[in-house]
Amino acid sequence: MTDSDRRHVWHPYTQMALDSPPLPIVRAEGVYLYTEDGRRILDGISSWWVTLHGHGHPRIAAAVARQAAELDHVIFAGFTHRSAAQLAEKLARILPPGLTRIFYSDDGSTAVEVALKMALQYWANRGEPRRRRVIALQHAYHGDTVGAMSVGERSVFTEPFSSFLFPVLRAHTAYCYRCPLGLRRETCAIDCADHCAELLASFPGEVAAVIVEPLLQGAGGMIVQPVEFLQKIEAACRRHNVLLIADEVLTGFGRTGAWFACEKAGVVPDLICLSKGLTGGFLPLAVTACREEVYEAFLSEDRRKTFFHGHSYTANPLGCAAALANLQIFEEEPVFDRIRQIEQVHRERLGRLAAHPRVGDARSIGAVAAVELRDEAPGYLAQSGRLLYGFFLEQGVLLRPLGNVIYLLPPYSIPPEELHRAYDIIEASLEWLSRAENLQL
Ligand code: PLP
Repeated sequence: MTDSDRRHVWHPYTQMALDSPPLPIVRAEGVYLYTEDGRRILDGISSWWVTLHGHGHPRIAAAVARQAAELDHVIFAGFTHRSAAQLAEKLARILPPGLTRIFYSDDGSTAVEVALKMALQYWANRGEPRRRRVIALQHAYHGDTVGAMSVGERSVFTEPFSSFLFPVLRAHTAYCYRCPLGLRRETCAIDCADHCAELLASFPGEVAAVIVEPLLQGAGGMIVQPVEFLQKIEAACRRHNVLLIADEVLTGFGRTGAWFACEKAGVVPDLICLSKGLTGGFLPLAVTACREEVYEAFLSEDRRKTFFHGHSYTANPLGCAAALANLQIFEEEPVFDRIRQIEQVHRERLGRLAAHPRVGDARSIGAVAAVELRDEAPGYLAQSGRLLYGFFLEQGVLLRPLGNVIYLLPPYSIPPEELHRAYDIIEASLEWLSRAENLQL
């Protein structure tokens, strides 16, 4: 690829005209990306958290090819196709009980937009139009579209658009390392969850929904939360008759060690958002699933009660075929054993890393592990992340720290020795970082 080949592309997160050019990748297989100049890079973040079983899994590739030869795409309003119907049926079987209606869209952000619009219109359709408020958590990230940004934490990502974002009630989150109440996990009673309950009590009959990233807040810093936090939020929603939206765009499909994070807490949301791993990392596709009762609120002789939302590529057959093949891999291969093996390596290596003087907190859940560096103004713009990203790439590993939080989120097929190698590189990076900072690189 020449410079002129890529002259017209605007890549996400381009900062300066002089940024080092994006790395051309010519092939991907298993846990590796192959560069044009012949290097092999270990994909330690599943290419923005999408790849589940490794790149190019032959079962998914074959299913997509078969589907492409049969039916590329068809409008999904007034028409249907087998792959979408089968996928909905399979998802309804593995989702938390009662989430039986599947609405398709394109990506994580649109899955969230759909959930928010469904929740608001649900109450309007049921004759409770005063329920217009949404409660979202501190450090939340739900996507880059306007509704998703509105429920996300205000940050450098959202600043230029602040006047366009709808206001939300912002509840405390369970970020035990930086507890919003200054408490310690060993002795607290998950008091942070009371804030959401207080907000619900302060605005009786005005809240439509509470939206959470269950057990793991991803882009906000890979914040792992106790199951009791989610349980308390669910209980408050039930007490106040408010819808609970679980954004499992990241946590779905095994990332936390169960099919869905909600399952680990025994929580059943009213709506759930899925994307990323849904197709095993092959194609953009998303789902917002809801309870039958939510769906029924949109069925009426009155056409104004219709959910007027549909994307051009809704339920794209190629995406649905990839998702079906992905679920079949779960049935045929020991996927959850692989996740448990990753979990074990995380625990073993994080124990050691936690003792390092640069490390403030080391945390993990399922296949995801994070190391938060101390002595840093936390946040996405922390300098250490930029420096470390370059170091990791030079060592042949794709890791993309979130500011001062280094994390590992590998495809489930990563061999344990490769995961250990990634940890060796992270350990080495901490020594390198101290030297780089002294030299003001
Ligand atoms: N929700 C969560 C929890 C996410 O982590 C993300 C992306 O990282 C999104 C929504 C947005 O997904 P997408 O980038 O596919 O729009």
